[in-house]
Amino acid sequence: MAPPHRFVVDMMLGKLARWLRAMGYDTLYFKVAEDRHLLQLAHAECRTLLTRDTRLARLAGAAGLLIHATEVEPQVAEVIERFALSPGGEDFLSRCLECNTRLVDRSKDSARERVPPHVFATHDHFVGCPGCDRIYWQGSHADRILTRLGRLLGRSRPTLSGP
Ligand SMILES: [Zn+2]
Repeated sequence: MAPPHRFVVDMMLGKLARWLRAMGYDTLYFKVAEDRHLLQLAHAECRTLLTRDTRLARLAGAAGLLIHATEVEPQVAEVIERFALSPGGEDFLSRCLECNTRLVDRSKDSARERVPPHVFATHDHFVGCPGCDRIYWQGSHADRILTRLGRLLGRSRPTLSGP
């Protein structure tokens, strides 16, 4: 099986980066980055450079993909189609949307002080980011992306279910 695709995206594609992370793809994104730094990363780490900049896409050559759409959903569709990606439901929300770190299960107890009381009372499964310490749960801000992704991929809404 081929290793999962990895990406680095340019500064104009921050939303796309979050969606790719929501699907579980290792995706680097920097609010500020020089083109040559992005190119370097793409080559050094075998990442596909996603960009809306024709010049940068040309420079990246085979390691680049020029994104045409301006809205995030068609952008995601472009990437999925180009690489024939079939993200699995179990990969959904396996990475932090903010910092790309792999999420780990958190015990309900450890989430107690970290989430609003009504969330704690109504949820049993939490995952956390070891990188930036965010906590995610079914219904957290990631949820809207997951719902829209499910629709885009033509399958029922992925759920964040416990083991
Ligand atoms: Zn994080």
